[in-house]
Amino acid sequence: MAIRHDQGIVLRSYPFGESDRVVIILSPNHGKLRTVAKGVRKTKSRFGGRLEPLTHVDLVLYEGRNLDTITQVSVIEAFPHVRMDLERVGIAGAMLNAVDAVAQENESAHRLFLLLHRGFRVLDSGPADPGLLTAFYLKLAALVGIAPSLGDCASCGGLVDVERFSFPAGGVVCSRCATPDAVKLRPGLTDYLASLAGSELASLPASGGLAADGQGLARRFLEYHLERKFTVAEVPGG
Ligand SMILES: [Zn+2]
Repeated sequence: MAIRHDQGIVLRSYPFGESDRVVIILSPNHGKLRTVAKGVRKTKSRFGGRLEPLTHVDLVLYEGRNLDTITQVSVIEAFPHVRMDLERVGIAGAMLNAVDAVAQENESAHRLFLLLHRGFRVLDSGPADPGLLTAFYLKLAALVGIAPSLGDCASCGGLVDVERFSFPAGGVVCSRCATPDAVKLRPGLTDYLASLAGSELASLPASGGLAADGQGLARRFLEYHLERKFTVAEVPGG
């Protein structure tokens, strides 16, 4: 058994035993960490609020057989503006939820960590863009190798009459390939999603009234391919 240092963003936690909590953390170095914070549910816990979800923490861990025990924790970044705004808390929660669904244990997760960290930084810097969560979802999909096709038909590669979206096919489909479950898209939605997928989180394109449709489609796409239900976050300004 050894002491080691690590860092990461707290994804969630749940009660464990009489007074402890299991804290799930995304570490860039080791992926999803399952740690235990002892005595954290006592009123005078030495950890205070430092292990709340969203917090980027520096950790000293005592390695255990199943769970590592947190012996020291300090806050690197708390994203205070996100916490003060219910709308942004909802978006951050949806980001955590999605990351939790794809992160693996004992596997480095640098790009996933950077995406989440970037998402929180942008969210902390000002009011959320209506397309922020959608862009986050699309980048996450690309990271795990399931980016939806948003240009040519996902089934035949054709470029003509591509106006529907198929979850099983993995993106937009043309009228010849569309199965009855393919959904008709509002004009411009594919272009909007493609431009979100290719933009920096801090400088997203105008939504043109398509933000809610885009977010719903991106969320359902991830849910379909990851076989998980995600929390629904409100779309800012619409
Ligand atoms: Zn086709």
